[in-house]
This record gives sequence, C-alpha cells and structure tokens, in this order.
Amino acid sequence: MQKEFITINYRQTQKLGEFLAGELRGGEVVCLSGELGAGKTTFTQGLLRGLGVKGPYSSPTFVIMKEYQVKIPISKSKYPNKSQNSEFKIQNVFHIDAYRVRADDILGLGWKEIVENKNNVVIIEWAERVEKIVPKGSLWIKLEWQGDKERKIAFNSKYQINFKP
Ligand code: ADP
Ligand code: MG
Repeated sequence: MQKEFITINYRQTQKLGEFLAGELRGGEVVCLSGELGAGKTTFTQGLLRGLGVKGPYSSPTFVIMKEYQVKIPISKSKYPNKSQNSEFKIQNVFHIDAYRVRADDILGLGWKEIVENKNNVVIIEWAERVEKIVPKGSLWIKLEWQGDKERKIAFNSKYQINFKP
C-alpha cells in the first residue's frame, strides 16, 4: 500500500515524522530516499523528537552511524497509540546518512545485531544507496521536491498515519 502526503513547509514534514514515531513499536528500519534537499533530514528531526530523543540532532557527518538514547518516558508521551501499548520498548535510535557510505562499512558496525534488536529503530537517509543491506519488509519513505516549499512524501507501508497538516 502506498500513502502519499504533500507538505508545504518544513514544519509539516517534521510533524509527519513525529506522527510516524507514534506508530513504531521497535525493530523498524525506516528508509528515506530522495534527492539532496528533499527533506530527509528534516523528516528525521521530527521522527527523533517523536520517538523521545532529546536534541540537538547533529547530522552523522563524521561518523557512519549516530546512536541516540530514548530519554523521555513513554508514559509521558503525547502519543496515545504508544502509551496504550505496554510492549513499546524502543530504547535506542540509530541514524545513518548513506550518501558517502559503503554498505560494507555499515555491515562492519554490527549491523545484523542492530537491525534484529527490537529495542532499536534505525533511520537511513539515502537508503537506496545501500539497498542491499536493508532488511526485507522495511518501511520505505520516498521524498520528492515539488517546489520551493512543497514536498511529496510517500510511504510504502501498512502504517496508519493520522496526519492532517
Ligand atoms: P535532505 O536531508 O533530503 O538533503 P534536508 O531536510 O536537509 O534535505 O533539507 C531540506 C531543505 O528544504 C531544508 O532547508 C528545509 O527547510 C527546506 N524545506 C522547504 N520546504 C520543505 C518541506 N515541505 N519539507 C521539508 N523541507 C523543506
Ligand atoms: Mg540529509
């Protein structure tokens, strides 16, 4: 199933990322694809915030993979879906920008263990560049530039995103 959203400013794209966070349960690999400036990092910022990671969210420019701890107790979360689900257990969030990274370099970081751990969520920008190491069944989100402030954001997924800009 494909779900499409149009955002008309960067805040809406962040919000969409925040909304997605409310649907994740742990163990997901979130693959962001799209050209430079499409909004992958902007979306990631919202997703990190929604998952309860405290900023600042510096880009993983000097490391292949940036690891964050989820700091905000889920019971305090503003996402009703999350607090109802006692199985929610996301503890660590990993962020990769694969623009200049080789798939093999990621594999060398203990990739298999990271993606198999249900306490983790992994976010990959430029995921299409390292597609061969992306687990099957991952969530793919395609971001497209439509105009100065307009972006099309399409999910390939089962996730119900109750998003109204
Ligand atoms: P990427 O990581 O895909 O290269 P970024 O998120 O770093 O893209 O950059 C997107 C740029 O586009 C930012 O400067 C952001 O402010 C701007 N922008 C304008 N409108 C939007 C929108 N609707 N969604 C996301 N970013 C937008
Ligand atoms: Mg980016």
